[in-house]
Amino acid sequence: MLKINNLHASVEEKSILKGINLEVKPGEVHAIMGPNGSGKSTLASVIAGKEDYEVEDGDILLEGENINELDAEERAHKGVFLSFQYPVEIPGVSVTNFMKTAINETRKAKGLEEMPANEMLKLIREKSELLEIDRKFLSRSLNEGFSGGEKKRNEIFQMAMLEPKLAILDETDSGLDIDALRIVANGVNKLKSKDNAVVVITHYQRLLDYIVPDYVHVLLNGRIVKSGTKELALELEAKGYDWIKEEVGA
Ligand code: ADP
Ligand code: MG
Ligand code: MG
Repeated sequence: MLKINNLHASVEEKSILKGINLEVKPGEVHAIMGPNGSGKSTLASVIAGKEDYEVEDGDILLEGENINELDAEERAHKGVFLSFQYPVEIPGVSVTNFMKTAINETRKAKGLEEMPANEMLKLIREKSELLEIDRKFLSRSLNEGFSGGEKKRNEIFQMAMLEPKLAILDETDSGLDIDALRIVANGVNKLKSKDNAVVVITHYQRLLDYIVPDYVHVLLNGRIVKSGTKELALELEAKGYDWIKEEVGA
């Protein structure tokens, strides 16, 4: 699904990612952990193709295709979804209408016609039922006055509707409360399948009590310095990052 080879990237001439290698297969959930400032959000942004991030070296492959040269929108259309840490408010645009537009934009980019209204309604109903989202929520103005939990619910709903191949959830700085964590985790657990993959970026082991990752990677100073299974996350929770820094001589 995703293969990253020797990725070096910089922001404002400052080198941040210094040789990332990562392979995520369909059906897998990978967690990326690491101390603040280690480059986790940068990695997410670079995979999603956000502007301002310069790839200096290396390749990002999505289903075997090099996507280095594609912009964020093109990557989104190919099935890369990055959660928003700071979602925008769009007064007067309902959650439903926003989703309809997003879906039809994606279809347009693929040369498809707009989704017929009845099909759209069916999709919205199906996904909102799966995620236990009520009708009232769907008619609310996008992100306007949303609580932290509601923002997360909206984000997960977007993910459900768009059915990404690769979902990247960057939860590091969002100060999730337990409700919001459960919403994200339930959503991810319900949406994951053998045909998609999820990369969860988190600073806290907590989230991984609910989303059980197949692999855990530790990012330190722009490099993945250790990989393991969910036990590694528990070890980090208990021991912090210092022992890893010593182990790798950082
Ligand atoms: P993490 O998500 O692991 O906390 P980040 O990827 O946000 O780490 O940041 C890694 C480093 O890159 C930090 O030193 C941060 O200050 C720097 N950085 C990230 N984004 C920018 C930016 N837009 N402009 C300048 N420096 C940035
Ligand atoms: Mg940070
Ligand atoms: Mg971050």
